Amino acid sequence: MKLTKTKAELRDMLKDIRREGKSIGLVPTMGYLHEGHLSLIRKARQENDIVVVSIFVNPTQFGEGEDYGTYPRDLDRDTGRCREAGADIVFAPEAEEMYAKTNAAFVDMSRLTDRLCGASRPGHFRGVMTVVAKLFNIVLPDRAYFGQKDAQQVLVVKRMVRDLDFDVHIVEAPIVRETDGLAMSSRNTYLSPAERRAALVLSQSLFEARQRIEGGERRADVIRNGIAGQISSQPLARLDYAEVVDAETLEPLREIRGSVLIAVAARLGDTRLIDNIKLEV
Ligand code: AMP
Repeated sequence: MKLTKTKAELRDMLKDIRREGKSIGLVPTMGYLHEGHLSLIRKARQENDIVVVSIFVNPTQFGEGEDYGTYPRDLDRDTGRCREAGADIVFAPEAEEMYAKTNAAFVDMSRLTDRLCGASRPGHFRGVMTVVAKLFNIVLPDRAYFGQKDAQQVLVVKRMVRDLDFDVHIVEAPIVRETDGLAMSSRNTYLSPAERRAALVLSQSLFEARQRIEGGERRADVIRNGIAGQISSQPLARLDYAEVVDAETLEPLREIRGSVLIAVAARLGDTRLIDNIKLEV
């Protein structure tokens, strides 16, 4: 496995690989890798000749007062995990390598980004789309791998690929959870033991909602209010949003029917966590 920190060296490595007709899978991450990330790398390993993992804490997707400075970083541990999961190349640029000092170009979207996480994190998806577009242009992957954990991100990336004609296939992989149900996240390391226990309310409220829907409940507001009430009743949690939306358009639903995304975000202390489930009804 090779590690590179520069775009030029990465492009150089990939040029020969592409000339040989080999397929390239890209797994974009912000590092501090856990089983969720590794599941994407392993999937990419199965489906491509060459697997590139990018590790980059992208400053443009963090808002003011968010955790860009404190986001956990451990490149040595991450490269070890990438090697074990079968990656061929790790691309870990510094912010100065990724963005020119006078960078003025961004990718924007007029739909999909104004709801859910986009509503509580203005500018977040602009930063995500910009860095993903840059990675696509640098790596020119055949396939790129994203987790359902960030369900809105997958939709936004797919739409960007369609609307800007990127020649890449987006592969979505299911959420990997801790044994008690908490969705794995690099940000879980911020949680105190009490917050870690309280954080279970996110997945539990979603699992209970699924049970109620399987039991026949079709009123979206009943499901939404049930989740919101459950999260709000946990003293250490502060609800950001709970939404029942169409899984393709993110439009709020009245009736639970078709492809449904139920998404939540909440703060445990200073830590903002998200989770979701998708249902076919
Ligand atoms: P991040 O490093 O948090 O930006 O995540 C990098 C990629 O890993 C994104 O596509 C995430 O959706 C995905 N990911 C993060 N956590 C999980 C998880 N628990 N299960 C599956 N995929 C995940």
